[in-house]
Amino acid sequence: MSNASQTPQTLASHVPRGSRGPAGPEDAQARILELRTIIDRANRQYYVDDNPEITDAEYDALFRELVDLETQYPQLITSDSPTQRVGGPPSDAFAKVTHRTPMLSLANGFKRDEVREFDKRVHRGLGDVQVEYVTELKIDGLAMSLLYENGQYRVGATRGDGYVGEDVTPNVKTIPSVPLSVTIPAEFPQTFEVRGEVYMPKRSFQRLNKELEGEGKAPFANPRNAAAGAVRQLDPRITARRRLDTFIYALDPAGGARSQEQILDRLAEMGFHVNENRRRHADIESVIGFLDEWQEKRHGLDYEIDGIVIKVNDLAQQAELGFVSRSPRWALAFKFPPEQAETVVDDIKVYVGRTGAITPVAWLTPVQIGGTTVSRATLHNEDEVARKDVRTGDHVIIQRAGDVIPEIVRVIAEKRPATSQPWHMPRTCPECGTDLVREPGAAITRCINASCPAQVLEHLRHFVAAMDIEGFGYATLAQLTDRKIVHDPSDLYQLTKDQLLSLDGFADKSAQNLLDRLERSKTTTLARFLVALGIPHVGWTMSSVLAAHFESIDRVEGAGIDDLRNVAGVGPIVAEGVYDYFERAESKRLIQRLLDAGMMMKAPDRREGPLSGKTFVLTGSLGSMTRGDAEERIKALGGTIGSSVSKKTDYVVVGADPGSKLERAERLKIPVLDETAFLALLEQEKDG
Ligand code: NAD
Repeated sequence: MSNASQTPQTLASHVPRGSRGPAGPEDAQARILELRTIIDRANRQYYVDDNPEITDAEYDALFRELVDLETQYPQLITSDSPTQRVGGPPSDAFAKVTHRTPMLSLANGFKRDEVREFDKRVHRGLGDVQVEYVTELKIDGLAMSLLYENGQYRVGATRGDGYVGEDVTPNVKTIPSVPLSVTIPAEFPQTFEVRGEVYMPKRSFQRLNKELEGEGKAPFANPRNAAAGAVRQLDPRITARRRLDTFIYALDPAGGARSQEQILDRLAEMGFHVNENRRRHADIESVIGFLDEWQEKRHGLDYEIDGIVIKVNDLAQQAELGFVSRSPRWALAFKFPPEQAETVVDDIKVYVGRTGAITPVAWLTPVQIGGTTVSRATLHNEDEVARKDVRTGDHVIIQRAGDVIPEIVRVIAEKRPATSQPWHMPRTCPECGTDLVREPGAAITRCINASCPAQVLEHLRHFVAAMDIEGFGYATLAQLTDRKIVHDPSDLYQLTKDQLLSLDGFADKSAQNLLDRLERSKTTTLARFLVALGIPHVGWTMSSVLAAHFESIDRVEGAGIDDLRNVAGVGPIVAEGVYDYFERAESKRLIQRLLDAGMMMKAPDRREGPLSGKTFVLTGSLGSMTRGDAEERIKALGGTIGSSVSKKTDYVVVGADPGSKLERAERLKIPVLDETAFLALLEQEKDG
């Protein structure tokens, strides 16, 4: 549901009352019922639909208000209150799994003093004894239970309502870091369960949202919802494509381990992914030091964390403390303050990118979030603005997630000025005045004038990077375009030394060096040339495929739409993008001018790309692709495959059950990539 369709009354009831509180039991009763309704609805949207309408911070504040009221008026607690339950009901779309022991939630704390209070409660519960704590990062993912029998992975289930979860066994199987078989020590129970978090790394999340936007679909609000959506798919092939990962933190039975720390070490030894950022503490102040440290450091991680989980280390002490209705008494989830703020949209402007894609951006009254001043937020595309119904003059909640560009979470509808008007995409390009085009079925609006000044600079930057011509920084290219010396990449090859010397930052030697590099770049390969042209959807992988198939620029230019569609690995969207590009008169003119400037495409003896010159050796089996596929992907990016590990090997890619190559790689200190790291490298090179 979009915020626009909510009545102001509903939104007002979302606002936690904080310390004001209701006046007496009757008021309290009414507010409790209201809170339960709102929280139940939020739970359904979050756990069942993977599409929350309010932010986690708002949810937490409402939940906290309900807990406080129920603490004040315990006679009003009912067993169906959200405070007595965990999660949401399992969906009927999946078979159900009854958990062997309930999968509970955790008590939350938001302030350092609440952490100290937790320590006092623990000490009250245990008496006068030493208590050690273990801290772990609180991974913002989806809780998952994995059952193993005789060392073999058998069942994967979501948490569901804590008692009954959804059977997602085949989906979880596609996650590369979930071992399908583990070696278990002799005395270890044959049947055991591990629990942990399935999460989506930030990179995969951004990529997925970009894809969804490209398909005109709504993006996910955060990596947690995206991960939940990916796991709760009826088709495991979709889960496999979403690049999920896991961090495991619980083992049941503990099989001889006496502390949480030993459990984590044991899980790691068994081959599970265990987060390395964990620590044992002798007292609570040391725990607080860990919180402070990670509140700062968390943005550097490739996954989202929303806090720190603090656990009593000793398992016997844990057992003594026991549980309350929905959480153990021996653990606390400390939640970081939300990196959100309220501000006003002063204007919505559109930007023109290299490929002519038009992106609406909100200009905000500057506001501080997590130590950074934020004054812009991306609105992605026209549909996104309409979905959130963002208008100039609106008060909005904005959010900064990691290093991602800030975005608008929602509009505060009740603060909307009466005169406000819905936003519409301009009809013409703000830079060159050409009519904008929105292709049917696509979310993106484009300026299709290749000589649009906004596109020219971005296009030149892309061209010099792809052609590997060092020495053309942003400032140089901006001067060349501002002075109208260069209009498109072919003009770079007409530059004279005098022209370069007239720019800031050039001396005789540097100007000559740049001219020499330009000259050298004229001898290139078809694949590199195709990348440099900046054809929509054509990165290194696609250009290598096209170059290998067509072998000359004339043949790519002359290819019909069916010829392109018939190339293995080229889908209909890419085929159309390529075809349209070569149909345009400006493209034909640019290519001709580049060829006239002396551009020569030699046939590569093998594919060329960002991995050119790098040798890979593979060992063990990968979960997400066959050995042949992995080799193809390396070759498509220009890399070579070696059969044995030597000092000349650049990377060893290690799957399950690796052979002696791994030992040799370790001995020779050759970088070893596990499957996740390998996929990340391929993606990085592909994007780059
Ligand atoms: P929680 O997120 O507050 O904490 C408990 C969970 O933390 C565990 O179940 C486990 O899955 C996870 N966890 C991550 N790392 C862990 C680790 N190292 N050790 C142990 N557990 C770890 O509780 P919850 O019950 O999962 O979810 C409630 C939260 O979900 C709310 O506080 C809110 O942030 C969010 N929520 C939001 C909405 C919304 O509408 N925005 C609705 C419902 C819930």
